[in-house]
Amino acid sequence: MNGPKHIVAAGLFEHPGGTELRVYIEPIGNQIAAMFQCAARGLALGPLAPFNKWKALGRHVRKGERAIELCMPIQRRRTIDTIDDAGNPTTEATTWTQFVYKRNWFVLAQTDGQPFEPLAPPAWDKARALAALNITETPFDLLDGNVQGYARGRSVAVNPIAAHPYKTLFHECAHILAGHTAEAELRDDERTPRSLRELEAEATAMLVCAALQLPGIEESRAYCQHWYGQGNPVPEASARQILKTADAIIRAGRGGTATDGTTNLVDDSGERDLDR
Ligand SMILES: [Zn+2]
Repeated sequence: MNGPKHIVAAGLFEHPGGTELRVYIEPIGNQIAAMFQCAARGLALGPLAPFNKWKALGRHVRKGERAIELCMPIQRRRTIDTIDDAGNPTTEATTWTQFVYKRNWFVLAQTDGQPFEPLAPPAWDKARALAALNITETPFDLLDGNVQGYARGRSVAVNPIAAHPYKTLFHECAHILAGHTAEAELRDDERTPRSLRELEAEATAMLVCAALQLPGIEESRAYCQHWYGQGNPVPEASARQILKTADAIIRAGRGGTATDGTTNLVDDSGERDLDR
């Protein structure tokens, strides 16, 4: 995989417009990859399709538009020659999946033609998601109304008066899935720095909100900038973590398999990073 490196251009959190957040393509990792590229280029996010698919829909890609690069799984076959214990040569055929990056897609904003009817956002069920991710929601027990939510061990709490409750829920889930709450007992110099933890959690929440067409995108951008500054490149490990976690949260609520919901060790040291 060599994906996120070039996708995560520093422009992500500086995208000026882009209120139209409708991107539908499977797998979801690609949906997210496309969002990064659109954001970096200042393109309004929207449905993606290859050149000929747009043509079939009665639209055409404008001259000079550069295609968006996505990851495509390709089935490959290979044979392995071995010598068995008796000294006889054997040949074994196996198939494997190779992920290839291709520049092949264009977003709605790069096309002209007949009006396009957008699809409905994917259905996402909170109870199903939390169960699949092995996360429990507990009552918010702080009096400080500025705190939007917090995560501890494998539980999350969201302030009932949070500005964007779903965004906060995704943010707190992201802290757990990215392993931040399991790190709570480590010494400070062994932990992911708080600025990076908050960036990972909030960028995840932003991508999930975008995919589900929920509000809070602009606030997310501001929050990421607050913690991480503007124009700082996102470390590749964090970019991968963000894509993986957003993918897991979206899939969990849709009834798919969460990719990595249950592998982090449970820890209940009592430490909470309060998210304001
Ligand atoms: Zn946080």
